[in-house]
Amino acid sequence: MTRRDQPRRDRTRPARRPVALVGAALAAAVLAGCSAGGAAAGPRALPAVPGATADAASHAPAGGAPGAGTPPLDDGLDGVDADLAARFAAARAAAGAEDVELRITSGKRTPEEQQRLVDEAVAKHGVPEAYRWVLPPETSAHVQGLAIDVGPTQGAYWLAEHGPDYGLCQTYANEVWHFEKLPDGADACPEQHPDSSWGW
Ligand SMILES: [Zn+2]
Repeated sequence: MTRRDQPRRDRTRPARRPVALVGAALAAAVLAGCSAGGAAAGPRALPAVPGATADAASHAPAGGAPGAGTPPLDDGLDGVDADLAARFAAARAAAGAEDVELRITSGKRTPEEQQRLVDEAVAKHGVPEAYRWVLPPETSAHVQGLAIDVGPTQGAYWLAEHGPDYGLCQTYANEVWHFEKLPDGADACPEQHPDSSWGW
């Protein structure tokens, strides 16, 4: 798929730039709100925070044995749409078979949490830059339980490539970690938004 390959190539390029540049970009993204871990712990907690949800890899079922076909809810998936969680579980299993780890770095957020991310992003980056990275509670898919942020970085890139096979779409060209469901009835992911500016 040309449309998918193109943005991937573009997004990969900055990763080869000097670390400071990449760090700044990631910190900006996190601060702006895609990672709850980042928002809570500060700019140094990047989306792919090792250890923050490290136990997610073991994915022991929580709260009793799930029924057949129902994925266990890992840390970070509480409150997330059940279908979205199931799709992620399937993708994670496939990634794991290729020795690629996938974990949730941010899932469902309350409106208050989302607003805090907005406030922090605006304070740090100003408007309109902040609006490229974070949506208000009214339009954030995270608040609706319909979005997940995925790490670590290698995992996010894996999912950007393979997610459509599992009904997961990378929604924003500037957020490799952010995934939503492939719309019902669609056979391909919709065109990506360049960033989250559309939601303001
Ligand atoms: Zn997100």
